[in-house]
Amino acid sequence: MMSRLSDVPSISHGFSGVADGTMVLNGGFANRKKYLAVHGLQPNQIVHAGLCHGTNIAVVTTSEGGKIIPETDGLITTEANVGLAMTAADCLLISVYDSEQKAVGMFHAGRRGLASEIVTRFFDVWKNVCLCNMHDCYVSISPSICVDHYTISDSDAQAFMKWPDACQKRDDGIHLDLRSVAQQQLLSVGVSNDNITFDQRCTFEERTLFSYRRDHPITSQLQVGYLMRRE
Ligand SMILES: [Zn+2]
Repeated sequence: MMSRLSDVPSISHGFSGVADGTMVLNGGFANRKKYLAVHGLQPNQIVHAGLCHGTNIAVVTTSEGGKIIPETDGLITTEANVGLAMTAADCLLISVYDSEQKAVGMFHAGRRGLASEIVTRFFDVWKNVCLCNMHDCYVSISPSICVDHYTISDSDAQAFMKWPDACQKRDDGIHLDLRSVAQQQLLSVGVSNDNITFDQRCTFEERTLFSYRRDHPITSQLQVGYLMRRE
């Protein structure tokens, strides 16, 4: 039985690295188009999210192909051959596939998005749009910063008290486990734990990936994640 999104033959799914260059919308768009084309996504098929660390989710179709949807941290499509693309450095990109309704979605979940419960917001739209049964839902999570390398302020930690063990007090400050928060939120909306796959690579540790926390770049250096169902 299928339990991983990456095992679905009709799904194209990936995440760039340092070698592919920065994928920031303003300054890295040529890199992005080139990288996605290498992976078989043509420019007029791809819808790009203009991230804002918010919780807006957009439902898109072929008519948005080639466009940037501003102020949006999540994209959903029920159509084949519509590629979804968005960036991350240390945050999570969460990709979702419904094996019955054939919808795909991707959203960007960092500290602020998770504190605002973007997982719940995404799945509210997901359920309304694709009328899916959560048992048919497969989730794959991009490389992200691990708990050992992610410290936050006392005030930022307040937003995470409702998720057990999300914050850990250590000698060097409060560490936040973004992956644990995401997993707890996914389980709470009804995703089966067996259907959740994490890429365990830590962006901070893995030199082939950009990390904001590690590099503090003057101009943004970001990976792009993509997701498309082919037909
Ligand atoms: Zn790490």
